Amino acid sequence: MPSYPRFVVDSMLGHVARWLRLLGYDTLYYRKIDDWKLLRIAKNEDRILLTRDQGLYNRAKKLRIRAFFVEDPDISSVLAELSTRFNIQLEFNKNDTRCPNCNTPLRYTTSVAEVAHKVSKNIALKYREFWICPSCKKVYWQGTHWKTINDILENSKIKKASRLGNIAINMRRVGVEDSGIGAGNESR
Ligand SMILES: [Zn+2]
Repeated sequence: MPSYPRFVVDSMLGHVARWLRLLGYDTLYYRKIDDWKLLRIAKNEDRILLTRDQGLYNRAKKLRIRAFFVEDPDISSVLAELSTRFNIQLEFNKNDTRCPNCNTPLRYTTSVAEVAHKVSKNIALKYREFWICPSCKKVYWQGTHWKTINDILENSKIKKASRLGNIAINMRRVGVEDSGIGAGNESR
């Protein structure tokens, strides 16, 4: 269960909060909140602060709060970065996911009867798997948007791999230069 790491995001990163919750990560998000409150939450609750605000990021660093400055808000880039730095899983786990709306862990069910009063007849006939939020009562299913979700996850994995690849290439370059003299002599 990915109970860690936990996050708190600034008001510009609502889309990141929804994604992290979908992937099972406990993530707080407020539409409107003072910077000092975000910093206090991050510190008191041991949450990583994600922000697009350079000033806020600097303040967090000064206070020794774990923080990440989101340079590119494109979601697949953000997820690739978070996965590289904080090891978040880029997989959807049907038994370990949170309500994108309110952050509460969702309950998985295959009982159509349980959700019949909350979804249209078409949906109840078409889908077999549902997630219910015990708190805000929303019901979720893998509808037509699900392909987009999978595409974004695949895209993040590719970006992560290329980032890790670049790091490996840079390390190799350093290695080659270090041993360059010896190799040059040998080939002559
Ligand atoms: Zn909810």
